[in-house]
Amino acid sequence: MVEDKKSSQISGFYKKSIKERVEFIKNFSELTDEETKLFSSILDLEIADRMVENVLGTFDLPLGVALNFKINGKDYIIPMATEESSVIAASSNAAKIARIHGGFTTECTDPLMIGQMQLLHMDDIAGAAQNIMGHKAELLKLANDQDKVLVSFGGGAKDIEVRILDSPLGKMIVTHLIVDVRDAMGANAVNTMCEALAPMLEELTGGKIRLKILSNLADKRIVKAKAVFDKEKIGGAHVVDAFLESYTLAVIDPYRAATHNKGIMNGIDSVIIATGNDFRAIEAGAHVYAARNGQYTSLSSYYKDKNGNLVGEIELPLAVGIVGGAGNIHPKARLCKKIIGIKTAQELAEVVASVGLAQNFAAVFALSTVGIQKGHMSLHAKNIAVMAGATKDEIDKIADQMVKEGKIKLDRAKEIIEETR
Ligand code: NAD
Repeated sequence: MVEDKKSSQISGFYKKSIKERVEFIKNFSELTDEETKLFSSILDLEIADRMVENVLGTFDLPLGVALNFKINGKDYIIPMATEESSVIAASSNAAKIARIHGGFTTECTDPLMIGQMQLLHMDDIAGAAQNIMGHKAELLKLANDQDKVLVSFGGGAKDIEVRILDSPLGKMIVTHLIVDVRDAMGANAVNTMCEALAPMLEELTGGKIRLKILSNLADKRIVKAKAVFDKEKIGGAHVVDAFLESYTLAVIDPYRAATHNKGIMNGIDSVIIATGNDFRAIEAGAHVYAARNGQYTSLSSYYKDKNGNLVGEIELPLAVGIVGGAGNIHPKARLCKKIIGIKTAQELAEVVASVGLAQNFAAVFALSTVGIQKGHMSLHAKNIAVMAGATKDEIDKIADQMVKEGKIKLDRAKEIIEETR
């Protein structure tokens, strides 16, 4: 192999055999023989049985890698676990175009999560709120006593905020505990702290604690990624204009924004799943953030720079961890984190946001030009051919014929099989 070992731009990777690809990744990410064997392994049933209840087996997804990513000047190969065809290719293509202008640049906040404690049944709401704020130092100390490990890494409870909310049941206080969770996703850490604070909050307010749990609106844990997509490379000024026209619908119309953001999550979830992170938490946070100004809108934004190139930006909360949770237990998730080569949860969040932007650019670009079906269709046709009963040797021929005819249907696949056998 002649490519620069640390460049993630690898030509013809898709044409290599699975064995050759695995060998390449082994060298790129300096995997051991044992780690390399994990690619073709399934999750040990004993591990699965400890992870969830009533286990019968495991459920597999294809695992591939996105190439060409340069993020803050560093090359990344990014594992993606997904059942959807075209997602990995689309990310890789977008990252290749972004490389022309230096790739992705990112920034992110500290990894701050919010825990909520709901207090009801108080006569003097304002006095109760004041009393909570007056005992902030004691509350933070009690929270930090719950997680010495987190504190030793520079994390821990950092702040308390009090909100008074009106409800059909009357006024209630929601106390927010702000916790720096460092390299963890943080849900368990925050929930433990909130539960520990509950009796003290009841004592301070004379109220009754009900909920004490993390909020998935992680709006203090925000990641931004940005890339410039070269005007000429994508087909000229009229394509940039077509792109911006398409994108604008996602800004103004929730019906389009839902699909636009779903495309972003195609990329994001694939990396989140591959690294053993909680995709429901990421989805919940992303979509509510997209509606933060009262109307659901695009998580990304696009504009032209002074040279007419297309600039893309994305901003969203990403509660990802590289320690704790399922990602710590699942051997393939550990392997995927090693392939990316991340050192902190913040770095993982920056990689994930870049993939989300790449995926979004690729989808809107396709929609603004040739349409999305063209790219989807050849893999889709192969799946249909398999469903129709095509043998290994027949799949490509049947799929090609259906694409040529523009009729990718199960009944047509069956007909072609009959005709050609
Ligand atoms: P965890 O409790 O397994 O690990 C976090 C702990 O690891 C920290 O509290 C700390 O003690 C320790 N740690 C060691 N090194 C660390 C470092 N460098 N940085 C930070 N902490 C370090 O996991 P978690 O991240 O607290 O919780 C994540 C899990 O909680 C996920 O599996 C998620 O699915 C689940 N969960 C989510 C929700 C929700 O999203 N609403 C609710 C409940 C549980």
